[in-house]
Amino acid sequence: MGKSGKRAEHWHTPATEALRAGPHLRIADLDTNGTPGFDGDKDLGERLLEERGAVLSHLQEMLFANGRTGDERSVLLVLQGMDTSGKGGMVRHVIGHVDPQGVDHTAFGVPTPEELRHHYLWRIRKALPRDGQLGVFDRSHYEDVLVVRVHDLVPENVWRHRYDEINRFERELDDTGTTIVKVAMFVSLDEQKQRLAERLERRDKHWKYNPSDVTERSLWPEYQKAYQDMLDRTNTDYAPWYVVPADRKWYSRIAVTELLIDAFERLDLDWPEPTFDIDTEKRRLAES
Ligand code: ADP
Repeated sequence: MGKSGKRAEHWHTPATEALRAGPHLRIADLDTNGTPGFDGDKDLGERLLEERGAVLSHLQEMLFANGRTGDERSVLLVLQGMDTSGKGGMVRHVIGHVDPQGVDHTAFGVPTPEELRHHYLWRIRKALPRDGQLGVFDRSHYEDVLVVRVHDLVPENVWRHRYDEINRFERELDDTGTTIVKVAMFVSLDEQKQRLAERLERRDKHWKYNPSDVTERSLWPEYQKAYQDMLDRTNTDYAPWYVVPADRKWYSRIAVTELLIDAFERLDLDWPEPTFDIDTEKRRLAES
């Protein structure tokens, strides 16, 4: 139990264990409708999201406070997932619990001409969380071994080397005080179809629909291979992958909340010591 003083109730297995990618995990066999490690239903899940979101917020504020007084550490959440897997909702409903000034959020889309002139990690390095911040990547450098591979945007002898390069990059981040939490979110093709259909039905969701999502859907077997290789080759002790079933949004949200709480608790945070004398300041204030 960390300093936040509350244990993750209703989890029979901690999310960090239940969702950790391992050598035997096959995406093709994943139950995307499952709720690994969790005993409760949607009502409980939604209630817990609020409770545990408050715990997350408290921990993030402590990291932020420490960052203000010289602590160079940060936390980086990397969100990867199929279209409609709920990356945007994760940012809104999980990260939405914490003070926005403590969050460095970046969504990575198709690289700009300027980004394309640089090494693929160039734009990633620029977006890394500052000291004391919670960084959130909605898509990431992993696109450079996913969409880039599936669409042959660079030859295989180029993307093949990227797994090792990414591992070295993440090792460097970990060594310099950035705790990395990597989340891969998966929905079933049926659930994805429903979510895309809803985007077509509802006027308030049309803006989320992209005709290329249907093309990408038909490429799922290739994406599946690319995701599997990504998990097999970049699942390290210092930057582990967590595989999150995402057919039930309430589950994926509480799961990622728990993964983040765990990452923050491992920092063993406390409030920073004041850099002034409290009694002197109380006296000065009273006399002012
Ligand atoms: P989203 O689909 O997540 O709502 P966008 O509409 O901005 O957001 O789409 C992002 C698109 O950018 C995705 O199709 C993704 O595959 C693509 N993309 C991201 N990174 C790269 C990359 N390095 N190379 C090519 N395409 C990329």
